[in-house]
Amino acid sequence: MGAGALGGWTALHLVRLGWGVTLVDAWGPGNGRASSGGETRVIRRSYGHRDHYVPLVTRALDLWTELEAEAGVRLMDRRGVLWLASDPGEFERSSIDAFRAGGVPFEELNRAELEARFPSICVADVPWAVFEPDAGALLARRGCEVVWRAVERTGGRTLRSTAYPDLDSNGDCRGVRLADGTVLDAEVTVFAAGPWMPELFPNVLGRRLEVTRQDVFSFGPPPGAEAHLSLPVWAEHAAQVFGDDSFWYGIPDGLSRGFKLGEDTHGGPWDPTHGDRVVDPARLDRARAYLAHRFPGLAGAPLIDARVCQYTMRERSEILVDRHPGAARLWLVGGGSGHGYKLGPAIGEVAARAIADDAEVPEALAALRLQP
Ligand SMILES: Cc1cc2nc3c(=O)[nH]c(=O)nc-3n(C[C@H](O)[C@H](O)[C@H](O)COP(=O)(O)OP(=O)(O)OC[C@H]3O[C@@H](n4cnc5c(N)ncnc54)[C@H](O)[C@@H]3O)c2cc1C
Repeated sequence: MGAGALGGWTALHLVRLGWGVTLVDAWGPGNGRASSGGETRVIRRSYGHRDHYVPLVTRALDLWTELEAEAGVRLMDRRGVLWLASDPGEFERSSIDAFRAGGVPFEELNRAELEARFPSICVADVPWAVFEPDAGALLARRGCEVVWRAVERTGGRTLRSTAYPDLDSNGDCRGVRLADGTVLDAEVTVFAAGPWMPELFPNVLGRRLEVTRQDVFSFGPPPGAEAHLSLPVWAEHAAQVFGDDSFWYGIPDGLSRGFKLGEDTHGGPWDPTHGDRVVDPARLDRARAYLAHRFPGLAGAPLIDARVCQYTMRERSEILVDRHPGAARLWLVGGGSGHGYKLGPAIGEVAARAIADDAEVPEALAALRLQP
């Protein structure tokens, strides 16, 4: 249930393992309310000291690449990811340690090299950077649609409806109840409902997952500044810009929608069903200030697209794959917002294997288990 990056891929892996699967989504794959909606997401293996994600991203890169070839549709833009670092750059230094350990290609660039290679970025306050050449951007909504179609092609069934867990008298889950009252029986039910998980499972997840609004902006380079659209994906912990711990990232030119810019700082609580998705003018002002500082050629560039999305956060934004503690036939997959999209293929695989083998999830994810 749920055809975002996590639910869609879990369903696809289960069908590939020979299970009969029905993938249900209330508003369709990568819809405008889903966390997997919108045009693009970053895919990178820079994770600082959280190096347990590096092999998962490596696996995800392979699976996205395979699906791209199988479907004959572009899903990735491997234009590289550039991390602008401060000194000492603890996050980037630990990422480099993990790159070395995992055989991930990277380049370390000093300021002079940055200026020569990326003249449209103002790096006067950036002493060095790390470049991940085979990372880049994923086409988010498109990826969910392609996974949905791959489920159908592989023999699974897809359905658009709101679904709720259908519990038996012991509290275990025997399937889902759809909005029209239809009951779908299932040996195993998986809920991967992104930001809807806390309201679906308030007792188990209400306090564990927090849903926050996130505003994302795309600016249109003026004539003469089109070169900005050829930059790599970039990110930085921007203490040198605002003197705070804000984290900024951007994806130039995702599906020709402009120069996308986002701030990772969490917004307020958010209702993913009923919230009007109108961007916050204060956030827009801050984005413009950041843009003018780091990309002076885009100072005053017009806003050409904007979205309000939402994070579903668990401790340290870790990802949840586990059985519901009171219902052995019900699995819950979620959390990880801010970084979960790219991991969909790998987390879906972990979840599908655990479900098919009736096994525990691997150690790296088991640390976050819901079981007592
Ligand atoms: C602004 C922003 C930037 C991000 N940047 C990145 C990034 O650069 N890289 C990255 O990897 N990740 C990024 N993420 C995180 C990533 O997008 C999410 O972690 C991921 O998309 C979550 O996928 P999901 O499948 O858990 O949830 P969703 O995509 O929200 O999917 C849940 C689905 O469940 C459906 N649903 C909900 N309730 C029901 C119900 N009762 N019945 C039926 N269907 C239901 C919904 O319609 C939805 O389609 C970002 C997120 C945001 C918001």
